[in-house]
Amino acid sequence: MTVVRKSQITPNMIRVTCAADWIKTLEPGIEGAHFKLFLPRVDQSADDFARQLDDGPRPDVRTYTIRYLRVESGEIDIDFVDHGDAGPASAWARRCKSGDVAGFAGPGPIKLSEFYADTYVLAADMSALAVVAATLEAMPRDAKGTAFLEITTPEDRQEIDAPAGVDLQWIVHPDPHQPATQSVQKIAAMPEFSGSVQTCIAGESSMIKQLREEIVNKRGVPKTDVYISGYWKIGLIEDEHQQVKRAEAAG
Ligand SMILES: Cc1cc2nc3c(=O)[nH]c(=O)nc-3n(C[C@H](O)[C@H](O)[C@H](O)COP(=O)(O)OP(=O)(O)OC[C@H]3O[C@@H](n4cnc5c(N)ncnc54)[C@H](O)[C@@H]3O)c2cc1C
Repeated sequence: MTVVRKSQITPNMIRVTCAADWIKTLEPGIEGAHFKLFLPRVDQSADDFARQLDDGPRPDVRTYTIRYLRVESGEIDIDFVDHGDAGPASAWARRCKSGDVAGFAGPGPIKLSEFYADTYVLAADMSALAVVAATLEAMPRDAKGTAFLEITTPEDRQEIDAPAGVDLQWIVHPDPHQPATQSVQKIAAMPEFSGSVQTCIAGESSMIKQLREEIVNKRGVPKTDVYISGYWKIGLIEDEHQQVKRAEAAG
């Protein structure tokens, strides 16, 4: 796919719009689904990158979320946390310009495809704003619940078309390299859940571990009603984080 637009939507979030003819064949309404993003090296030509995708070795690959899909124009928007040049994906988002190319594999499934809960509990750090925002926008308009959204600065707040009955609580967590604790404390302080609950929760892995303990183990929300996923881990690149997740799931 080819970059067609880019904007700094908030101080720590870069939106890159990519276009391709095959995007016109995607199913509408899959905002919030993840995909694998294949990244060219600095100064690698489009032809050389296409050759590498065909013949290997595998380029850097990272996982991202479809924030918006416009099937008719064959475009997707991807919102990248700008966490500097340390990782190939963040660095690519910072340097890319119209005409640059990247590879796409997927998409995976959307995270909540059916909405049947009495109450929704959502939580995200900036890496998961796209999935939680897309979920809020897809929910029935009479849905009720609370969303805890951890952002790096107050200006990182975004407009989200959430149901009026979902309370959006924006929480400033200024140093993403320190584990986020505020959503964990706020969810632990919520009254006992009554009725059915569905969740859409994602973000840094240590926050997710504590929230899984609270929601699944302590409060007993059935796993089938829970989407909760570690999207990155402080100090690990994505491949290392995926290895840790696989080992934890196996053990
Ligand atoms: C299903 C899924 C969907 C995702 N969707 C999105 C999305 O839409 N937008 C998005 O921004 N991220 C998303 N992520 C998270 C993203 O894949 C990781 O943040 C990834 O590590 C970024 O790759 P990188 O090349 O920039 O950094 P890496 O090379 O993986 O890591 C380099 C260093 O940066 C640190 N780091 C990684 N991510 C962050 C961060 N967010 N903030 C601060 N430091 C960080 C790492 O701990 C490491 O020390 C998603 C993850 C999953 C599993």
